[in-house]
Amino acid sequence: MTNASNVTDIFTRRESEARSYCRGIPATFVSASGSELKDSEGNTYIDFLAGCSSLNYGHNDPDMKAALIEHVSNDGIAHGLDLHTDTKSAFLTAFEKHILEPRGMDHKVMFTGPTGANAVEAAMKLARKVTGRSNIIAFTNGFHGVTLGALAATGNSYHRGGAGVPLNGVTRLPFDGYMGEAMDTADLLEAMLTDASSGADAPAAIILETVQGEGGLNAARPEWVKRIADLAHAHGALLIVDDIQAGCGRTGTFFSFEEMDIQPDIITQAKSVSGFGLPMAMVLVRPEYDIFGPAEHNGTFRGNTHAFVTARVAIEKFWADDAFQKELAAKSMILTTALQELAELVPGARLKGRGLMQGVDVGSGELASAICGRAFEKGLIIETSGPNDEVVKVLAPLTTPEATFRKGLNIVLEAAREVTETNKIAAE
Ligand code: PLP
Repeated sequence: MTNASNVTDIFTRRESEARSYCRGIPATFVSASGSELKDSEGNTYIDFLAGCSSLNYGHNDPDMKAALIEHVSNDGIAHGLDLHTDTKSAFLTAFEKHILEPRGMDHKVMFTGPTGANAVEAAMKLARKVTGRSNIIAFTNGFHGVTLGALAATGNSYHRGGAGVPLNGVTRLPFDGYMGEAMDTADLLEAMLTDASSGADAPAAIILETVQGEGGLNAARPEWVKRIADLAHAHGALLIVDDIQAGCGRTGTFFSFEEMDIQPDIITQAKSVSGFGLPMAMVLVRPEYDIFGPAEHNGTFRGNTHAFVTARVAIEKFWADDAFQKELAAKSMILTTALQELAELVPGARLKGRGLMQGVDVGSGELASAICGRAFEKGLIIETSGPNDEVVKVLAPLTTPEATFRKGLNIVLEAAREVTETNKIAAE
């Protein structure tokens, strides 16, 4: 099924060497619907990448598409800077009614430039402005984007190496589980914050992902996150939860921290917030910390009007009651069972992640890439994550029909079986 021949010269001739996903997925895609994509040669692929969690509701959801087409056909506003528009009003109203109010959240919504990194930049700047402090505590294997402020909080040395300048203003500490089960790394954080001679400057904020998406699907224990939140507040720091990848239902609830008994001061959202794969990012902030002056964190594309249209439909369609959330719980169990089977194929392999953000650490990037490559040949798009790309990571659209989901999981299993078998024969 591989379609290497349709990788036309134009991409290698003209597209920058900075391109990435397309290198391991050599097809030219022409259409997509739900959880499947079609390439230029008519091959169909099941999507277990979902725009890296930007397509949680699948490709071209019919209700979002219809609303967007209607908006465009009626000469609705396409770009409005941050002017009041009917679409922004409708989105905010739906978000308030179905997301914020039922969760008892009084957060204000700040629209930033449309990338996740820009939301993180705004969150870090805001915490610094609120507290008058500059240091931010971030964690090993955290990924928060690649613009300089966010990159300083990102762990990965490959990405950090692209900065070209020192990355300042962040103290790094071990994430939950980083030192093994015997050590609770929240103890270290507490000691560092309490000891006036630890050398750690008083933090403006502590930023974390509850499940580290790019960092290898490390899922923090709820009690660890709760302790970090309590420590932040005890030491005058804001808690920033970066929910850009783990939010919008990915872990089974709208926010990834919902069952952790915490109320973050700042939450960053992007990726699936538009519901349709359109660029849109925002920062949710407790009202008392909403202190940026007008346009102090500026941006021409603060709020994407077309994205407001689809984001409103996504909220009303999937989050007005708990039916979708129940489906996610059932699908997460299917995923865990399949991945346990995969883990049994590889000695030492470990199941990682939470909800519909799970994968298997197969021990090496080479093996994980081989499994993903074989899966692609069989009609499945799936990627790796982790510091050495050693985790085969399933990020299917949350709306994937059960039969397609099981079919995709079977492809991953078959691919893993074939690759491990070939490796065994080669080693003999
Ligand atoms: N934060 C998290 C947790 C992410 O996973 C990502 C991207 O993968 C970002 C921030 C950066 O988002 P963007 O790529 O839209 O700048």
